[in-house]
Amino acid sequence: MLDGITGVGGRMPKPGDGSICSYCGAENVFDEHLSLRPMTKKERKMFARKPEYQIMRDVARIGIKQRTAKLN
Ligand SMILES: [Zn+2]
Repeated sequence: MLDGITGVGGRMPKPGDGSICSYCGAENVFDEHLSLRPMTKKERKMFARKPEYQIMRDVARIGIKQRTAKLN
């Protein structure tokens, strides 16, 4: 089932989806062109209530912590 366009979690992002940078932890939203723009305060609150988003955010934070711990 590898078609070359499969996104993370087996689906492609759609406008309005949240995204967390696994490198710096920046929280972004896909706009109508599927470009990332920074999340507004309101959106961050809204996404923070979604369990799947909380997991995504925690995973990103753990990765960042591990990487920065190695550097120090
Ligand atoms: Zn980043």
